[in-house]
Amino acid sequence: MKILICVKQVPEIMDVKINPETGTLIREGVDSILNPFCEYAVEMGLELKRHYGDIETVAISMGPPQASSALIRCLEMGVDRATLLADMKFAGSDTWATAFTLAKTIRAMEGDFDLILVGKQAIDGDTAQVGPELSEILGIPQIMYGVSVELTGNKKKIRVKREIETGNEIVEIKLPGLVSLSKGPMIRCISSFKEILDARKKELRVAAASDLNIDENELGLRGSFTQVVKIFPPQVKKTGKLIDGSEPQGAAKKLIGFLRERKFV
Ligand SMILES: Cc1cc2nc3c(=O)[nH]c(=O)nc-3n(C[C@H](O)[C@H](O)[C@H](O)COP(=O)(O)OP(=O)(O)OC[C@H]3O[C@@H](n4cnc5c(N)ncnc54)[C@H](O)[C@@H]3O)c2cc1C
Repeated sequence: MKILICVKQVPEIMDVKINPETGTLIREGVDSILNPFCEYAVEMGLELKRHYGDIETVAISMGPPQASSALIRCLEMGVDRATLLADMKFAGSDTWATAFTLAKTIRAMEGDFDLILVGKQAIDGDTAQVGPELSEILGIPQIMYGVSVELTGNKKKIRVKREIETGNEIVEIKLPGLVSLSKGPMIRCISSFKEILDARKKELRVAAASDLNIDENELGLRGSFTQVVKIFPPQVKKTGKLIDGSEPQGAAKKLIGFLRERKFV
């Protein structure tokens, strides 16, 4: 059985600042990390491997050359091998072009697979679109916001507990399929010294556009339907009013008075 895990490198979000003149992220001096939701996807893949055995896990990322450090983190966590898609022809990809390139890579370089795991969203781009688009392009069923995954039906199906607004629901699909992972009960693990050393011996393949049987007009900026025009932080509006609740009856009167004054009641 083969599990593919798509991962993205993101800036350490606590450090992110935006240049007010250019409207772009200031990346100088900002650490990059493996997207936390991708870490949960990796951890889920490894958990399935520990539990059921005989599973190959492969991490795939599309990004600039420095994104290889996110893949090294996956190898240190226990993933068997990794592929980085690094080529300036991929630069400027929106979510569609990203999903399209990942789908072409999976078809060209991996062939058969059973399960694809992705994070529910990247904490920088934050669109949560790549996973659903990837499953649509590959023509496989998808389950979003998974928190636990089990193999059923002699490893031909998966049963996923997923988050919904009112709680959780359990959904089953036939494999091959795609699951996006939310946090759930998973924790981000620290690799042992041995795992870190072992990772150096594992395969980290770097692929370019020429390795994929692909029309270059469908890649990067040219293959993208959307373009980010500007990024800016939302304006902070201090319109909230705090009512001291230490004396509940008085607080309730104040609240009603406030709502009446504004004709809400
Ligand atoms: C040369 C180059 C430069 C790039 N520069 C940037 C950049 O500056 N900023 C930026 O945000 N993106 C960059 N990308 C990557 C790409 O454009 C984005 O990954 C894409 O638009 C994803 O959108 P999102 O962040 O909203 O992902 P979401 O849809 O929120 O991500 C959901 C999940 O999809 C998977 N996923 C998303 N992106 C990738 C990926 N690239 N590879 C593998 N799996 C993925 C992950 O599992 C992730 O958890 C670059 C790519 C290349 C090749």
